[in-house]
Amino acid sequence: MAAAYRGRFAPSPSGPLHFGSLVAALGSCLDARAHGGAWLLRIEDVDTPRNVPGAEAAILRTLEACGFEWDGPVLRQSGRLEAYAEALERLKADGFAYPCACSRKEIADSATRPAIDGGLAYPGTCRAGLPPGRSPRAWRLRVDDRPVAFDDRLQGQVVQQLARDVGDFVLRRADGLFAYQLAVAVDDHFQGISDIVRGADLLDSTPRQIRLLGCLGYPVPRYAHLPVAANAAGEKLSKQTRAPAVDAARAADELVGALRFLGQPAPAELGRAAVRDVWSWARENWSFAAIPRRRAISLPA
Ligand code: GLU
Repeated sequence: MAAAYRGRFAPSPSGPLHFGSLVAALGSCLDARAHGGAWLLRIEDVDTPRNVPGAEAAILRTLEACGFEWDGPVLRQSGRLEAYAEALERLKADGFAYPCACSRKEIADSATRPAIDGGLAYPGTCRAGLPPGRSPRAWRLRVDDRPVAFDDRLQGQVVQQLARDVGDFVLRRADGLFAYQLAVAVDDHFQGISDIVRGADLLDSTPRQIRLLGCLGYPVPRYAHLPVAANAAGEKLSKQTRAPAVDAARAADELVGALRFLGQPAPAELGRAAVRDVWSWARENWSFAAIPRRRAISLPA
């Protein structure tokens, strides 16, 4: 028998729930329920300077107004710092993690290759040990040039060579905060997640998470990266592009919009029905095969 399905939705409280996050919440929840699986909620508040006061409460209120029901208690990354510290200690002991003394400026001055996320690939200055007289600022994961490949249920085969495309990446930042990549890998294992369904903006991060899971000796989940909503100019709708917050007072209509975005032909009049009727329609008619296999879809202006 296949392992039990456990899915999750993991918003960051850096703003209210916007359309793209609603799509990720809905897609991950409906896929979990279609498999008779659990669906967990995790608040990714590890990057504390980006947390916006009140955003977590607003996200939970909007999810509730939209009729989402998650299993078990909400997991907050701010309560998991010991687990991240323990994982980092293990990575150090196993020779995967090393201290880095480089400042942002030093990296900018010495890096020669762009990274896949638009930044710069770390040139490896501190790989063989800290230069004399320098103290550690951050901790990095040592990567190599073996390709990391996975079969995404929607996006097909993805291959990345971490040494070339990313470089040794940060696990603990100079300000002492644990990096998202470490926290997410540790938590997905802790919560027993079998299936990750999330926006395709995270596709390029996935090989880093797979490598980390491997270094920690944890199994790799299945992945499905949903198309992200973009504006007419092709830019991802996000807080930075001023995506509007999901309007909880129009929850049924918002859910219908998210269903249609995911290729599910929900009738427009369902947007005027009760939220529970939208969920009944969605659970009866959900078709994973109908989700567009694209990284981004532009919404009309
Ligand atoms: N917290 C991330 C975000 O809001 C999502 C991470 C994930 O789903 O793995 O973009």
